[in-house]
Amino acid sequence: MNIEVTNDSIKISEISQVAENRIEALFEFPNQEPQRIFIESSKQLQSNADTWLLLALPIGMKLGLSIVIDGEIDSLLSDNLKNLEREYLRGNRHFKMIEVLTTGTSTNSKIAGKQTASFFSGGLDSFYTASTEPTVQSLICVWGFDIPLQNIASWNQLNEVAVNFAQRHGHELTTIKTNLKTLSHGRLLWGRHYFGWALSGVAQSLRPNFDVVLIPGDGEAYFADWGSNGNLNALCSTSKVTLREHGTASRVSKIVAIDQLDSLREMRVCLKAGFKFLNCGECKKCRRTRLELDGSQSSTRPSGLEERIDTRIFARERISKTEYSILKEDQLEIARIGTPGFSSLARHLRQGRARYVIFQIINFIPEKISHLRQSAKQGFRQKN
Ligand SMILES: [Zn+2]
Repeated sequence: MNIEVTNDSIKISEISQVAENRIEALFEFPNQEPQRIFIESSKQLQSNADTWLLLALPIGMKLGLSIVIDGEIDSLLSDNLKNLEREYLRGNRHFKMIEVLTTGTSTNSKIAGKQTASFFSGGLDSFYTASTEPTVQSLICVWGFDIPLQNIASWNQLNEVAVNFAQRHGHELTTIKTNLKTLSHGRLLWGRHYFGWALSGVAQSLRPNFDVVLIPGDGEAYFADWGSNGNLNALCSTSKVTLREHGTASRVSKIVAIDQLDSLREMRVCLKAGFKFLNCGECKKCRRTRLELDGSQSSTRPSGLEERIDTRIFARERISKTEYSILKEDQLEIARIGTPGFSSLARHLRQGRARYVIFQIINFIPEKISHLRQSAKQGFRQKN
């Protein structure tokens, strides 16, 4: 089928199996340079339209562009498409329902693995799912999501964590290298809108190996409508690969559950992690994890997060609304399990939040005055 590129559509073509372990497709956006996207793996991949459609759908919905794709979509995904769009709209009300034009639907490929895999990024949710879910046989570790393709040293470090974890726990390891994150650049926010779709797309390309792929979830209500949640993940399933969110317990209770795990020492949560260290101990994510480790009275602590946190630190900081929501959930969970020594945590968080609000107001007033002055000057010039 020949598909015309129009000014109101994203076209996906040249869907190809370049090698057993490499697939590619060409994405064309109106008035922009075409982008060739690749996915490479240590395992066999299958080129299929479902993979590429899942990567394009949220972008089309943000930009209000239909999608035309030169391939056949799986019948289950095709049946669920409108529900999938509606589910995504719940968290992104200004996005739009769009049309998807394909060359047909298919239940074609006989290729379908019979194993369960779970994504593994080295963080708490990954550790929890991989060590508590007995059906997981393989871990999928992606280079090109949290770690840019240019950052070889960081990738080597994460790969080492994944290899060690897999060996200790008797899992296989599947590695992926991809430039698909570039599709979101300038169009969608990775964490807020896109990463769940990215994981789902990769999972569908791995169908020669796995029939169930788990996406480690989080228990934070604040993120419920973001780009990855249980309902969205499930609706990205096809008749070949079922996608499922796993592990929606709070982070504190996840740490309690895997406290005895030796590999916990190698957990990697840091926003600044490079090849020199696993965790800096001081960035926002490291501090928060130190709080969670203290709150759960963990006996095993990841490298770089050994030191207990003085919760007064939060009172001296400026805590944004998002950070406050996250830390508040930690505080409530610590209070619920009754760990002693945290009676002042709620007050310290409120103080940090108040600091942020006051700072915003102090910044806002001079800005507003200067804006009013400029408007007045312009008005004066126009009158004269
Ligand atoms: Zn850090």
